[in-house]
Amino acid sequence: MPHRIETESRKLLGRLREALAADSEGQARLNKVVDLIANSMRAEVCSIYLFRDSETLELCATQGLEQDSVHQTRMRLGEGLVGRTAKSGSVVNTADAPSAKGFRYMPETGEERFSSFCGVPIQRLGESLGVLVVQTKAARELTPDEVYALEIVAMVIAEMTELGAFVGEGAALSARHQQPVMLKGSVAQEGASEGTVYLHEPRVVVTNPIADDPVAENERLHAAIEELRQSVDNMLTGARSVDPEQVQVLEAYRMFANSPGWMRRMKADVENGLSAEAAVEKEQSLARARLSKSGDPYLRERLHDLDDLSNRLLRILTGQGADARADMPDNPILVARNIGPGELLEYGKALKGIVLEEGSVGSHATIVARAWAIPLVINAKGVTAEALNGDTILVDGEQGIAHLRPDETVHGAFRDKLAMQTRAQERYASIRDLPAETKCGARISLQMNAGLIADLPSLSGSGAEGVGLFRTELQFLVRNQMPRRAELSALYSRVLNAAGGKRVAFRTLDIGSDKVLPYMKPNDEPNPAMGWRAIRVGLDKPGVLRMQLQALLRAADGQPLAVMFPFITQLREFQAAKAEMAKAVARETKLGHPLPSEMEIGAMLETPSLAFAPDAFFEEVDFISIGGNDLKQFFFAADRENERVRRRYDTLDVSFLSFIEQVIKRCADSNTPVSFCGEDAGRPVEALCFAALGLRSLSMRPASIGPVKHLLRRVDLTEVKSVMDKAIANGDQSVRRAVADWLVYQV
Ligand code: PEP
Ligand code: MG
Repeated sequence: MPHRIETESRKLLGRLREALAADSEGQARLNKVVDLIANSMRAEVCSIYLFRDSETLELCATQGLEQDSVHQTRMRLGEGLVGRTAKSGSVVNTADAPSAKGFRYMPETGEERFSSFCGVPIQRLGESLGVLVVQTKAARELTPDEVYALEIVAMVIAEMTELGAFVGEGAALSARHQQPVMLKGSVAQEGASEGTVYLHEPRVVVTNPIADDPVAENERLHAAIEELRQSVDNMLTGARSVDPEQVQVLEAYRMFANSPGWMRRMKADVENGLSAEAAVEKEQSLARARLSKSGDPYLRERLHDLDDLSNRLLRILTGQGADARADMPDNPILVARNIGPGELLEYGKALKGIVLEEGSVGSHATIVARAWAIPLVINAKGVTAEALNGDTILVDGEQGIAHLRPDETVHGAFRDKLAMQTRAQERYASIRDLPAETKCGARISLQMNAGLIADLPSLSGSGAEGVGLFRTELQFLVRNQMPRRAELSALYSRVLNAAGGKRVAFRTLDIGSDKVLPYMKPNDEPNPAMGWRAIRVGLDKPGVLRMQLQALLRAADGQPLAVMFPFITQLREFQAAKAEMAKAVARETKLGHPLPSEMEIGAMLETPSLAFAPDAFFEEVDFISIGGNDLKQFFFAADRENERVRRRYDTLDVSFLSFIEQVIKRCADSNTPVSFCGEDAGRPVEALCFAALGLRSLSMRPASIGPVKHLLRRVDLTEVKSVMDKAIANGDQSVRRAVADWLVYQV
């Protein structure tokens, strides 16, 4: 950037600071800002439009347009060039505004006299606050340097808006963060909780966006970065000895903290007049803007890291939120844009609820929250902008709703809901150590699904009899490089120790489809769920599978071991996978290592074809676990990740149940133990129907064990079966209605 422009932008910021420091407030301040920009840029018009509500922009100050139109002229998001700038979140710069796409003539402003238009979004950390506009009579596009100067000014205006510097006259400028807000998101973990907002990344308020001594400011920036690097190094050293799952996450932070590009861009912004804090925030805004546009999961994770790092740096620079953990309120509800599993593990189980702006049902943080049964709402758009630390918040995990600063009516209804939930929890706790035995005397083994060491404490807490599915890929997913065999076997032996002798069914790596390892080249497949995944990868490129099998054998250290292979479709595939295990056993024997005292080798039944495998398969396999999540998507041809179709077909559809019944029968005929470990096993009515069909082992997330056991203990399965049969004879498509109606009179 040429030196002349650097000083121009610095000069403009210097004058802006004087204007803002002067003894004026509200509208008068805003008027000063537009005057100053218009004069400095030698433009006839400078205007500021701010959001009145999430859909409407209002002209709040102008130099050059009709003064009568201030607080009168409004436009919808996307309407006209101003609305287009706000909607796209990017600069609109044109020499010939009337011919530009989206132009809308506003007669009351008198803007017909102006030919050129440059609109710059006013944004703060990805939240759109308004638009800064410069117009000139001469038909000229602003130069890139002029646009850059406007962006820097817009950044300062955003900070001042956040600080309430313009609050005064005008509805659009009324104080934010006071009204009740209901945010609709999606359900990720059921349950309801009431508490106090605890922001994962407290809003660091930058009170000094402009600096006048770039040299001193750059020194501050350098010193803060040094401190940041040091703190990341310290965290890494600490994590190495305690939590291997966190180390990989921190390695990524360290990589960014040392990135020369990041540093260079911030330095340039400081040289152009921004304070160190504002320069960091500018980078953070950029990362968030890219984050909102990128669909690539790997890139999103990395941008999230960068965002997190910027926050840490801001906290160092401002000294705000340094001892955030110490300030945790009594019933903390964590509010964040997104959160990584490592960070969530750091907070521990003290959290009463979590509300995320982004997140996904299958993310690792979600899996941790589910393991701990913390109510979690995801996709709650706008929550990080709306919530302030200390606000009251109600999390309704059943409906996927968060109520921020609720009014008394909402609060009252919610308290009733909480009371019901507490009564239910007490009921589940009282039967924790009792068996899941039905009135007709059938014993159902209830097991839990897990994937991280952090899940294991739930084993005793939930009353699960063992781990029916241990998804080993989660430990691969939370790190940034392929784990080594010694690391893996240490992890598996920690899992076995934590299980304290209860059976753990380890499922070998199921990667591909939605589970993409950050350190493996993604495969560009047209249909990854039916693509090169799970055992297909394991058999084609057996290096990782062999390492995993060996690590499992070593971890067992002479104790019993249960291993199952994912996504088996044919007898031949199972035999090939089993042969890999035989080779691993031979290697271990040769090395003189102890072998497991007993070994079970099972298969996941996740494709319809395996149900029709030759008898030899059922004879060779030691146990079968029905992976209903995948099985259902292939049975009904309905993508489990696609919101439009994933709930279209009912699990209790008679065709699916009759298929499951056949699987149970083939297993019974061959004496093969069978269990069900998909999500449906944890839904009480589904679990009941599976048990009525003859399933005696179900594996689910720990929080579901109480509700499922509670229901099973109150019914007679022969009665359930006859209700189901009647519905089928009746021609019902699904038995759900009949079973639900019958249940009303039973429990
Ligand atoms: C399943 O498909 O039901 C299953 C348990 O495996 P995952 O959800 O990990 O694909
Ligand atoms: Mg599966």
